Amino acid sequence: MKKIIIAGAGHGGIAAATLLAREGFDVTIYEKKQRNELGYDQVDSVHLDGFERSGVPVPEQYMVHRTGIAFRLPGQAAAALKQGVKEGTMNVEIPRKALYDWIIAPAEEAGVKFVYGVTVEGPIVLGSRVAGLKTSEGDVLADLVIDAAGVYSPVRSNLPESFGIQQSPAKYEVLHPRRYFFSRDPEAGEPENVYSVTVLPTPFCGIMWAIVKDDEVDVLLASFEDLGDEEYEEKLAQLKAVTPQIGELKRGGKLPDIPSRQPLSMLVADGYAAIGDAAFMTVPLKGSGVGHSLRAGKMLAETVIADKNGFYNRETLWPYQVRFFEAIGHGSALMAVLKNELPTITLDSLEYIFTAGIVSPELLEQFGSEAGFAKILMNSGIKELTDMGKKIVGHQALRRTIMRGASGLGRCKLVERGMKEKYESRTATKWAKNYDAFFASILKRSLSEAQRIKTGIADASLPEDED
Ligand SMILES: Cc1cc2nc3c(=O)[nH]c(=O)nc-3n(C[C@H](O)[C@H](O)[C@H](O)COP(=O)(O)OP(=O)(O)OC[C@H]3O[C@@H](n4cnc5c(N)ncnc54)[C@H](O)[C@@H]3O)c2cc1C
Repeated sequence: MKKIIIAGAGHGGIAAATLLAREGFDVTIYEKKQRNELGYDQVDSVHLDGFERSGVPVPEQYMVHRTGIAFRLPGQAAAALKQGVKEGTMNVEIPRKALYDWIIAPAEEAGVKFVYGVTVEGPIVLGSRVAGLKTSEGDVLADLVIDAAGVYSPVRSNLPESFGIQQSPAKYEVLHPRRYFFSRDPEAGEPENVYSVTVLPTPFCGIMWAIVKDDEVDVLLASFEDLGDEEYEEKLAQLKAVTPQIGELKRGGKLPDIPSRQPLSMLVADGYAAIGDAAFMTVPLKGSGVGHSLRAGKMLAETVIADKNGFYNRETLWPYQVRFFEAIGHGSALMAVLKNELPTITLDSLEYIFTAGIVSPELLEQFGSEAGFAKILMNSGIKELTDMGKKIVGHQALRRTIMRGASGLGRCKLVERGMKEKYESRTATKWAKNYDAFFASILKRSLSEAQRIKTGIADASLPEDED
């Protein structure tokens, strides 16, 4: 019987484990937390697709009508732009702990073994192959290691450089969130919008949301900068001033970092496959981290099952990489191109975006759908952005940002063509190198532009559009 071990009880790892155990594989998950500590104070919004396309049953008791997001400018109460939502669109809103119960019970039933309270310290590498895991309880060998240990996975971070798998996310590739729950002030009446998001331009660089529920207000603040308490408190005060429903603080604080970047260029190696946040599969604000992980779990399990010889090497695991990128990864990478421009967005350009009709409610509706926005980017994103950029005659800095985004999308699409369906070592390595170099270059460029803006050498002294 082939032995598969999984680092961390991440959602995608559990989904893959369940399908593999049902096929007779010997599967063990090593998780550093205790069972009752899994999950945290968080209600996840998950697209139905995430369940339907992964084979995990939809938790129908948590299905709700999807609410459109109202986007606000910093310090303003009224929405500057509202996301359209097709009538009757359903979504799953499930507490994180209930989600774990939902996916762990069938995994255990299928025969997956969960070992709690054991910390994975890194991979065991023999030659060019991952042969097992070093854990706090000793070494464990296996035929395949699945890495589901999240954004700072000690497995991925400790792979030798020769594997060509990026070890750590760069600065601006993770959001640092804080979540607070307040009582709801009954005197304040009904909110104009249940779910509002404020985009926070540079230098805070992030988002904050307020979700006004029947009995409490759920607030999230997340920045790409790892800022101190003072900055967060200042933003919180700003949010309170425009959200009268926010009452007394009940609980809250820091939460784990959320990856917000392109997926890992190389998901597989000999004896190794990465999934979920360990492979940077989430796109924040889209309700996609869980869904993408569950769907990838199915793709990975099917790929492993198809390898009848049990090689589990880069070549036989490659179809997992190809399927993931075709269905999800290429679209997420294009979104990451646009996200990388965020550090260059000033309050002034943000106001312009919201007030000059540059982003339509329909476009935002596409952003909210599982595949919609990615599809736009894949099909015609460059043209749409270029047209947008041309229309912005009155705002040089923003026009530059948009044109850079359009040019980035074009270059990204070219780079992405380098990933071939059929595995061949040289082309696969070349693809990963080009993809990583491309994203490193656009991030570097955007950060140096942001620095220029911050130090005030901005707009006027910049040359006319480079792109
Ligand atoms: C504040 C916040 C809000 C979010 N909102 C949503 C949302 O609404 N919808 C959505 O779809 N997604 C949301 N996400 C993203 C979502 O949580 C992830 O994308 C998703 O959980 C996939 O991550 P994962 O399961 O792979 O990793 P994780 O959730 O990070 O799980 C990794 C597991 O590995 C364990 N682990 C880590 N290191 C070790 C180690 N050394 N040894 C053993 N075990 C280890 C961890 O304890 C953890 O159990 C949110 C994330 C955050 C932080």
